[in-house]
Amino acid sequence: MSKVYDYLVIGAGPAGMSAAIEASNAGLRVLVLDQAASAGGQIYRNLCQVRGSQEKILGPDYVAGKPLLAQFMAANCDYQPLAQVWHMEVHEKGFLVAALVGGVAITFITSHLLLANGAMERPMAIAGCHKPGVMTAGAGQILLKSSALIPKDVVLAGSGPLLLLLAQQYCAAGVTITALLDTTPKSNYWYSMPWLVAGLTTPRQLFKGVWLTLVQRIKLPYISDISHIEIVGDSQVSGVRYTVAGKEHHLSCNLVMLHQGLIPQTQMAQLLGCPLEWNDAKQCCQAQVGVAGETSISGLQVAGDAGAIGGAYLAQLEGKIAGIARVHSTEKMPSWGMRLTHRWQRFRVKQQHWARGLVDRL
Ligand SMILES: Cc1cc2nc3c(=O)[nH]c(=O)nc-3n(C[C@H](O)[C@H](O)[C@H](O)COP(=O)(O)OP(=O)(O)OC[C@H]3O[C@@H](n4cnc5c(N)ncnc54)[C@H](O)[C@@H]3O)c2cc1C
Repeated sequence: MSKVYDYLVIGAGPAGMSAAIEASNAGLRVLVLDQAASAGGQIYRNLCQVRGSQEKILGPDYVAGKPLLAQFMAANCDYQPLAQVWHMEVHEKGFLVAALVGGVAITFITSHLLLANGAMERPMAIAGCHKPGVMTAGAGQILLKSSALIPKDVVLAGSGPLLLLLAQQYCAAGVTITALLDTTPKSNYWYSMPWLVAGLTTPRQLFKGVWLTLVQRIKLPYISDISHIEIVGDSQVSGVRYTVAGKEHHLSCNLVMLHQGLIPQTQMAQLLGCPLEWNDAKQCCQAQVGVAGETSISGLQVAGDAGAIGGAYLAQLEGKIAGIARVHSTEKMPSWGMRLTHRWQRFRVKQQHWARGLVDRL
């Protein structure tokens, strides 16, 4: 027999946790399913276990998730970790969601469903990327957060904030970064200036990005304006070949981590028939989502990076708004809920400016 819920949330990241806190505080029967072993999502992965020197390595933005995590763990909702959602469909009572929990297939019924299943890394399909010794930067960071596993040395290649953040965390952990190969064309920096200035009114994220870039440029063998990057090796990686200013270079290494930004995980929304749209600034497809996470499918919401890439702050805000909207319905939002919605809209517009500056013309 499937247990019936008022609100089923897929994903215990900043978006899913915030939504679940709001809905369960209002007395709804809430279930949160997440495939990870503990709550926190990508940014706060394994936060409940990490201590001491590992906290220092992962940095202040990681530890900043503790209050949200504590609030979520104290909330009166059912939370099922290690639950891999593999199917969902529209049902007479709302939605049917199927998950694999401890090797057992379980179905859940819910009147309302929130997809807060986050982002994935944009595939970086360069020649040789299938060879043993090539991973994504996100996978490298997952090993660092969940098991404190680090390589001895590594070449990082691509672009985007996660690559810079991993470089910083690896440096703090004592990893030798043989080179950081930045694929961002130089012309993009000039092109981005007007958009970045337009986003300056909320400078925290922007300054963090600029600061990370500058620090890595000083600390590391940082090689910019890379093109024609290719992984070299027969049965496994033996090096990287790349071009700078028309000249070909070769670097010996046996581990390369690639990254080219994040894109929303839209498969669940697509499965339920939610229409997608093209985001030109972020160069990806995303679900069509309203201000409170609502979609064209009745009872279905999407929040956080699963809807549009915005980072942890925006994901948390969107989750909160989605939870409030579930409790009050979007039309009857309380005034404080409306204020949050306006804050979200202002922030989204600025983000769109940064995104134009950062990823257009790649
Ligand atoms: C690999 C990776 C590492 C990142 N690291 C950082 C970082 O260090 N700092 C930073 O600022 N940003 C990081 N980000 C960006 C990050 O996505 C956002 O900052 C923020 O975590 C988004 O919050 P969210 O709640 O929308 O989604 P997420 O935090 O991504 O949470 C989504 C949750 O959904 C769960 N999930 C997904 N699919 C399923 C399924 N089929 N069944 C059950 N559960 C599922 C996941 O386990 C996850 O816990 C990272 C992104 C990725 C992809």
